[in-house]
Amino acid sequence: MQPCECCGMPLEEGMTSRFDNRYCIFCQNQETGKLKTMEEVREGSIEAAIRLLGKTREEAEAMADHIMPQLPCWKKKNAFRS
Ligand SMILES: [Zn+2]
Repeated sequence: MQPCECCGMPLEEGMTSRFDNRYCIFCQNQETGKLKTMEEVREGSIEAAIRLLGKTREEAEAMADHIMPQLPCWKKKNAFRS
Protein backbone atom coordinates (compact mmCIF):
# COMPACT_ATOMS: atom_id res chain seq x y z
CA MET A 1 0.00 0.00 0.00
CA GLN A 2 1.32 3.42 -0.99
CA PRO A 3 1.59 5.99 1.80
CA CYS A 4 0.29 9.51 1.20
CA GLU A 5 3.14 11.60 -0.19
CA CYS A 6 2.35 14.50 2.13
CA CYS A 7 1.63 12.96 5.53
CA GLY A 8 2.89 9.36 5.18
CA MET A 9 -0.44 7.85 6.19
CA PRO A 10 -1.30 4.55 4.45
CA LEU A 11 -3.79 5.16 1.64
CA GLU A 12 -6.45 2.69 2.62
CA GLU A 13 -9.74 2.15 0.82
CA GLY A 14 -11.58 5.47 0.67
CA MET A 15 -8.61 7.50 1.89
CA THR A 16 -7.21 8.38 -1.52
CA SER A 17 -7.84 11.89 -2.83
CA ARG A 18 -10.17 11.99 -5.81
CA PHE A 19 -7.89 14.53 -7.51
CA ASP A 20 -4.56 12.77 -7.15
CA ASN A 21 -3.95 9.20 -5.98
CA ARG A 22 -0.63 10.15 -4.39
CA TYR A 23 -2.42 12.09 -1.65
CA CYS A 24 -4.98 11.35 1.04
CA ILE A 25 -8.31 13.08 1.56
CA PHE A 26 -6.90 15.02 4.53
CA CYS A 27 -3.96 16.55 2.68
CA GLN A 28 -5.89 17.50 -0.42
CA ASN A 29 -9.13 19.44 -0.16
CA GLN A 30 -11.78 17.27 -1.81
CA GLU A 31 -13.75 20.33 -3.00
CA THR A 32 -10.97 22.47 -4.42
CA GLY A 33 -8.03 20.07 -4.93
CA LYS A 34 -5.84 22.40 -2.89
CA LEU A 35 -3.02 20.76 -0.93
CA LYS A 36 -2.34 21.65 2.68
CA THR A 37 0.81 23.55 3.52
CA MET A 38 3.69 21.77 5.25
CA GLU A 39 2.83 23.61 8.47
CA GLU A 40 -0.80 22.43 8.33
CA VAL A 41 0.17 18.82 7.64
CA ARG A 42 2.82 18.95 10.39
CA GLU A 43 0.28 20.23 12.91
CA GLY A 44 -2.21 17.54 11.85
CA SER A 45 0.30 14.72 12.28
CA ILE A 46 1.38 16.06 15.66
CA GLU A 47 -2.21 16.13 16.88
CA ALA A 48 -2.85 12.64 15.50
CA ALA A 49 0.27 11.24 17.19
CA ILE A 50 -0.78 12.73 20.53
CA ARG A 51 -4.37 11.53 20.21
CA LEU A 52 -3.86 8.12 18.57
CA LEU A 53 -0.40 7.09 19.75
CA GLY A 54 -0.44 8.74 23.19
CA LYS A 55 2.74 10.74 22.49
CA THR A 56 3.69 13.91 24.33
CA ARG A 57 3.78 17.16 22.36
CA GLU A 58 7.61 17.02 22.23
CA GLU A 59 7.67 13.39 21.06
CA ALA A 60 5.01 14.07 18.44
CA GLU A 61 6.91 17.11 17.10
CA ALA A 62 10.15 15.15 16.91
CA MET A 63 8.32 12.39 15.05
CA ALA A 64 6.78 14.78 12.52
CA ASP A 65 10.09 16.57 11.95
CA HIS A 66 11.78 13.23 11.37
CA ILE A 67 9.19 11.75 9.00
CA MET A 68 8.03 14.76 6.99
CA PRO A 69 11.31 15.74 5.28
CA GLN A 70 11.45 12.20 3.86
CA LEU A 71 8.06 12.43 2.15
CA PRO A 72 8.04 13.24 -1.59
CA CYS A 73 5.77 16.27 -1.11
CA TRP A 74 8.30 18.19 1.00
CA LYS A 75 11.48 16.62 -0.29
CA LYS A 76 10.86 18.27 -3.66
CA LYS A 77 10.32 21.66 -2.05
CA ASN A 78 13.51 21.39 -0.02
CA ALA A 79 15.49 20.41 -3.08
CA PHE A 80 14.00 23.34 -4.95
CA ARG A 81 14.88 25.77 -2.20
CA SER A 82 18.52 24.76 -1.78
ZN1 LIG B 1 -1.94 12.81 3.53
